[in-house]
Amino acid sequence: MNDLRTRIRDALQRVCRAGATYADARYYREQDDEGIILVQGNLKSVERAVTTGIGVRVLYRGAWGFAATGAPEAVQGVAEAALENARVAAQRVPYPVRLAPRTPLTGHYESPCAIDPFDVPLEEKVGLLQSVDAQLTRPWVAQRMLFLWATRRRMLFLDSDGAEIEKVIHELFARMVVIGVEPNGMSQERSYELRNRGVGTRGWEAFHDPAYFTGHAPRVVEELGQLLAAEQCPQDTRSVILLPGIMFLQTHEVIGHALELDRILGYELSYAGGSFVRLEDFGTLQYGSEKLTVRADATLPNSPGSFGYDDDGIPCQNYVLIERGILKNAITSRQTIVEANEKAGRTVFEASGGCARACGFNRVPLERMTNINIDPGTDGTLEDIIAHTERGIVLDGARSWSIGSNREQFHFACEIGWLVEDGVKTRVVKNPTYGMETLPFWRALSAVGDERTRELVFVPNCGKGLPSQIMHLGHFVPVCRFDNVPIGR
Ligand SMILES: [Zn+2]
Repeated sequence: MNDLRTRIRDALQRVCRAGATYADARYYREQDDEGIILVQGNLKSVERAVTTGIGVRVLYRGAWGFAATGAPEAVQGVAEAALENARVAAQRVPYPVRLAPRTPLTGHYESPCAIDPFDVPLEEKVGLLQSVDAQLTRPWVAQRMLFLWATRRRMLFLDSDGAEIEKVIHELFARMVVIGVEPNGMSQERSYELRNRGVGTRGWEAFHDPAYFTGHAPRVVEELGQLLAAEQCPQDTRSVILLPGIMFLQTHEVIGHALELDRILGYELSYAGGSFVRLEDFGTLQYGSEKLTVRADATLPNSPGSFGYDDDGIPCQNYVLIERGILKNAITSRQTIVEANEKAGRTVFEASGGCARACGFNRVPLERMTNINIDPGTDGTLEDIIAHTERGIVLDGARSWSIGSNREQFHFACEIGWLVEDGVKTRVVKNPTYGMETLPFWRALSAVGDERTRELVFVPNCGKGLPSQIMHLGHFVPVCRFDNVPIGR
C-alpha cells in the first residue's frame, strides 16, 4: 500500500513536471457491492461484486483529461494517458477550467458502522427479508418484493498539491414493495424503504430498531388493501400535505437538481437537462414562501449523502441553499464556482460547497447532491397540520415523476392519498397525482411540520452525467403543506 502510495504521488508529480497545472488520483482499494432480491418470499438473486481500480484526473491548459484502470499498479501509464487526453481537449476547450483555491488537506473519514453488513452471513440477511415477507403475505397481495443493497468503499485520494485523504464508507439500503390487482386489471402499489433520522450508525444494526424498516410491513400491506377498495382521486384544486415518502422526491427534483451549479452553467443540457435558475437570481429570487429553508448538509452521520470529504478533497459542509424563501447558494465544486463568479461579474459563491463526487474510480467528479434537507417548521405534527386544513389531501409514496428539462415544472403520481375535509382525514383515494410550476408551488408552502415529522429518506438511484453515474444521497424532510394545488390530472 505504501509502495503504491509513493507510485501514485510520483505519477502525479511527473505529469505536473510535463506541464499539468494540477492532477489528482482516486484509488479504490476495494469497492464491495451486494444486492439481494426476494420475490414472493423466494430468493430471486444474490449479486456480489468486488472492484478495485484507480482514476487520474489531469488539468492542462484549462482542460481536463481523465483515464482509469482496474490495475492500480499501472498508475504511471494512466496518468500519462490522462495528460494526453487533456492535451487534446485543450485545443478545443470552450471555457478554460480553473480551480478555486483551497488548503490541501490530510484527512481520514470512516462512516459510523457498528456491524459491517459484509460480515453478516447471507442466511441472516435472507432470513431478515423473509421475516418481513411473512408479514406482507395477505390474500390481496399479488406480488411481494424485498430488496437489500450494501456497499463498502475503501478509497484513497491524493493530489499534486499534497492532499491525502482516506475514506471508508458504508451504505445500506432496503425496500419492500407490495402490488395488488384491481378487478379491472389495473395495479396498485405500496412500498417503504429503510429510513432514519440522520443520527446513529449505518451498519446492519439499522435493522435492530423496527421503526426504521421491518416494523412498517403491517401498515404497508394494510394500506395496499385500502387502496384496492378505494375510489379514484378527485380532480380539483386543494391543499396537498406531503409526507416524507413523497416530500423527498419533491425536494430532490425541483430544488436539488435545479440548484446544481453545473446544470445552471449548461453542462448537463445534453443529458440530464438544465435549470431555470440564473446566476443573477442568487441573493434575490423568492424561491419559496418564508417557511422554506433548505440546506445542503453532508455532515449528518447516518446517510449516504455524508462522505467526509468530496472528490476535490474539500471537507463536507452544512450550508444554506434557500433561507426563509430566498435563494442563497447552490450545489457547487471548485471548478464551477470560478466560472460562475466570472460569468456573473461578481462573487456569487465564496467557496466550494464540497459537492464534487464520482460514483466510482472510472468516473469523473460532478456536482452531486449531498443531503438536501428542509429545516423543520413550527406547525406541529402531521395531525396538527391536518386539523388546520380545510380541504386537502395527504400524499405519500412516489409512483411516477415527470419534470421539465429545466426543472421549471413537475408532475408526480403518488401511491396513496387520504382526503382531508374540515380538518379531518376522511377516506383513502387511489391514483392520486399533483403537479404545478416550480416557483408558484414552493411559494404556496403554508405549513412545515416540526422536528418530530422529519424523516431522512435515502436515494440510491440519482442519475446524472455522461457516461452515466448513479449516486447515493439523502433528504431529511418534514411534513409540508402547499395550498391551491391541482390534483387528479
Ligand atoms: Zn436525481
